[in-house]
Amino acid sequence: MSKELLFISQHWNIEFNHAAGETASVFFRAIKERKEILGRRCPACKRVLLPPRSFCERCFVDTLEWVKVGKEGTIEAFTIVYEQFRGLPKPPYAIAYVLLDGASTAMVNFLKKVDLNNLQEALERIKIGARVKVVFKRKRRGRITDFWYELLHT
Ligand SMILES: [Zn+2]
Repeated sequence: MSKELLFISQHWNIEFNHAAGETASVFFRAIKERKEILGRRCPACKRVLLPPRSFCERCFVDTLEWVKVGKEGTIEAFTIVYEQFRGLPKPPYAIAYVLLDGASTAMVNFLKKVDLNNLQEALERIKIGARVKVVFKRKRRGRITDFWYELLHT
């Protein structure tokens, strides 16, 4: 008898609600209601964690202080996606980790308003160290997709 494992293909399409938690609720409410981006400062290492965390993963202490960070920042890493992934936008699109002014950790989001049809031209504009601004949707729902990044000095 063969002991080779079988693989069974299944399709699940499940919609569910979950509690965002205390820290994420404050973070998303600030985005939705005031167009503010809030991080949490660690009382030990003083880093401003963004997205906010209820504890510092380096110091293992609770973070207690909310800090409003800037609406501009610097690209630390990015990728340009040319393949279609289920549940994600139609390619091409760019995603960037941005260190917002006043934050100690970078936060990922879409980088929009850049022509990505020519990769070489796109890479001349999207660079590590490039400055970006945060742009908010007019109608916000309290989600990370309520804002995106756009290059400054385009
Ligand atoms: Zn810390």
